[in-house]
Amino acid sequence: MVRDEILSEYAKVLDTNQFVGGPMVGRIEAEIASYCDTKYAVALSSGTDALLVALMALDLKPGDEVITTPFTFFATVGSIARAGAVPVFADIDPVTFNIDSDEIIKKITDRTKCILPVHLYGQAADMDAINKIAKERGIIVIEDAAQAIGAAVNGDKAGGVSDIGCFSFFPTKNLGGFGEGGMAVCGDESLYNKMMMLRNHGSSKRYYHEYIGGNFRMDALQAAALGVKLKRLDSYIRMRRDNAHQYFEQLQGVMPESLPKEINGRLHTYNQFVIKVDKRDELKEFLAQSGIGTQIYYPLCLHEQSCFKYLGCARGDFPKAEEVSGRCLALPIYPELTEDEITYVSDKIKEFYRL
Ligand SMILES: *Cc1c(COP(=O)(O)O)cnc(C)c1O
Repeated sequence: MVRDEILSEYAKVLDTNQFVGGPMVGRIEAEIASYCDTKYAVALSSGTDALLVALMALDLKPGDEVITTPFTFFATVGSIARAGAVPVFADIDPVTFNIDSDEIIKKITDRTKCILPVHLYGQAADMDAINKIAKERGIIVIEDAAQAIGAAVNGDKAGGVSDIGCFSFFPTKNLGGFGEGGMAVCGDESLYNKMMMLRNHGSSKRYYHEYIGGNFRMDALQAAALGVKLKRLDSYIRMRRDNAHQYFEQLQGVMPESLPKEINGRLHTYNQFVIKVDKRDELKEFLAQSGIGTQIYYPLCLHEQSCFKYLGCARGDFPKAEEVSGRCLALPIYPELTEDEITYVSDKIKEFYRL
């Protein structure tokens, strides 16, 4: 049914003959803005490009600092560096895996231009505290909500509770397209106008360029597929949450400390269900032998990546992020997972630890 609906939307794109931008893209922008309750949305070529365009819109100068987490996907930090700023890391809260607001305060300098929290695995970072820190100091906040579309903070949608929110529609995300795609949402008209120009080589009038932008536009076919899937996003999220709660039922009694923790007031969308365990690599291997696929997000923190050596960080600088990166394991959580499969995975974990 989803397939038929998407094919019929694809046919409409073929009929319009407009393959980049156009009415389908305008429509998904309006729908995402409405879903996130933001004034504006800018459709982009990927989540990485959403972060890059958002940061480019800030007009960062060499030496300007952006505070972020060392425990995230590469794109968060790569985009900061590509936008010409200095990534500054603040350690995480080992319970939520998200950036720790007390650590952010320690890292603020007079060069701090932006704070870039990541809503890791589908649960929002502590946006109340982060927004307060930023507001008191005139610092901009960009949310990396690539893994967290539909997540909520006190009832407001993640991505819509800061200056700019960035989403990814990579196929593994909760709103996954059939290829690459991303979106930046914001409430400020001048940021919106600038991002609209940046995605189109910094131009609003053809062949006249105000900024040095890039080609960060979304394909119409991607927008068409996303429109169909967006209508089902909340039900996909419900299914993921149901799966998570079944894991809780199976494992809470035997390994409560290992399970992800839902924070009051923050709706977790479980893009990933990540447990924190000893003998992680052995468990991963044991589960693989039982036919269970698991993943490690992420095996090496960003401050330890060779491309960021120039930042001068070393192992030991962010002990909580390092500890979690050595112990995290993502279990299957996709919407179609059955109750029996969850029981099977849980039983195998108990078997491994002899629980
Ligand atoms: C997926 C992801 C991105 C990048 O999105 P792409 O669409 O793959 O470019 C950025 N940040 C985080 C945290 C992500 O998970």
